[in-house]
Amino acid sequence: MTENEQLFWNRVLELARDELKQAAYDYFVADARLISIDNQIATIYLDEVKQMFWRQNLKSVILTAGFEIFNVEIKCHFTFEEPKTPTSFEEQGEGLVEEVLDTPHLAPVVSNIDDKYSFDNFVQGEGNKWAKAAAIAVASSPGTIYNPLFIYGGPGLGKTHLLNAIGNEILKDRPNARIRYISAETFINEFLKSLQTGKKEEMKESFRTLDVLLIDDIQSMGTSKMKATQEEFFNTFNVLHSNNKQIVLTSDRIPDQLNGLEKRLVTRFSWGLTVDITPPDYETRVAILTNKIQELPYDFEQNTIEYLANQFSANVRDLEGALKDIDLVARFKHVDTVTVEIAAEAIRARKNDSPKMNVISIDDIQEQVGKFYGVTVKEIKATKRTQDIVLARQVAMYLAREMTDNSLPKIGKSFGGRDHSTVLHAYNKIKNMLAQDDNLRIELETIKTKIR
Ligand code: ADP
Ligand code: MG
Repeated sequence: MTENEQLFWNRVLELARDELKQAAYDYFVADARLISIDNQIATIYLDEVKQMFWRQNLKSVILTAGFEIFNVEIKCHFTFEEPKTPTSFEEQGEGLVEEVLDTPHLAPVVSNIDDKYSFDNFVQGEGNKWAKAAAIAVASSPGTIYNPLFIYGGPGLGKTHLLNAIGNEILKDRPNARIRYISAETFINEFLKSLQTGKKEEMKESFRTLDVLLIDDIQSMGTSKMKATQEEFFNTFNVLHSNNKQIVLTSDRIPDQLNGLEKRLVTRFSWGLTVDITPPDYETRVAILTNKIQELPYDFEQNTIEYLANQFSANVRDLEGALKDIDLVARFKHVDTVTVEIAAEAIRARKNDSPKMNVISIDDIQEQVGKFYGVTVKEIKATKRTQDIVLARQVAMYLAREMTDNSLPKIGKSFGGRDHSTVLHAYNKIKNMLAQDDNLRIELETIKTKIR
């Protein structure tokens, strides 16, 4: 590292500090390292999930520092390969310059944000790192980077958590910011109520003057039969977006699959950034459990944590549920250390609840799959071969084989008298698709929880 390179990098960090909120600096910048500068190209060591943020937000910082120190245009190149002799620096620079805030002249809003959710207590893993990075980026510069931010993923994977964490992070710096967390379902209900009580204008006003709208489970908006609800949401969206007010949406599926939602709304959802959350892998499950047991007044054997991580793989809510079961037992029995035996005993009822023990009928499966894909059960059982119907039919057959004990011929019979080889073909086809298609995997997880 030459002296000039060192100067350059210190300047980059300093400028980045001025530019960014503390949380964004800590997350995106603090562990970046300059490896070298060759031919006016700065090679920077950085986790891939943070690279996009640099490309979009810190180009000017690199340019400025480059001209100041070298008098030429410095471009940057990112790598996530460990440099042979890693070089790290003491950070320099003064603390962050506080942003001057305009005093709000409107009445404060009840944000409905749950302060138990933060970025700090959201454990990062392969399946959620992009979503977390995008959420932090949005929280540090609302309305400017990704608008809207659309987060989708199966149930219990942390969407509501991230949504609230964004709100809490923004409120840290701007306690008076007009932020509102609301589920799509509550939005619908509030809207209907405002019509009944003649307070439609007030409702309109209260949403259109927000700085940040965090709207959860937008897929439920599709179930509202009233066109006026979507119309109202559409207008709110447009007003906020055109005023550069941040909108974050979550959903259990990608925008394209939002049945019952108007096309013009769905199109807008994809204007900003769409990121997914997929189920936690084993390491992440262990990390989440380890994190969540920290504050409990008793210990866990490492074996127990690994056991639990193996028992519940589909989502984080199940992991938390298991810890709650164990907590009851541990407190009741005054346990010091939770062994695998204690854990197994505590979660037995929960495991018995699990799908294989439940009697799930093919009818249930057909109904839920149909609902999800916007296809009728009749269509699933019939022979029509449009793309939607074929997918729904094959998914239903796949789930019938996976979730019930019925034989292939029996399943075939329940699908309008088809041959067992048709069922097997559908099963193999979906299985292959699942291996390659994360979206489909999320869709199936969602449908499965509905069936259970
Ligand atoms: P979703 O809205 O996607 O259905 P939630 O946000 O409600 O899921 O998450 C379910 C539970 O799991 C919450 O209590 C949440 O705090 C927890 N959780 C989910 N993901 C994580 C994570 N990565 N780290 C820590 N807790 C998590
Ligand atoms: Mg949720």
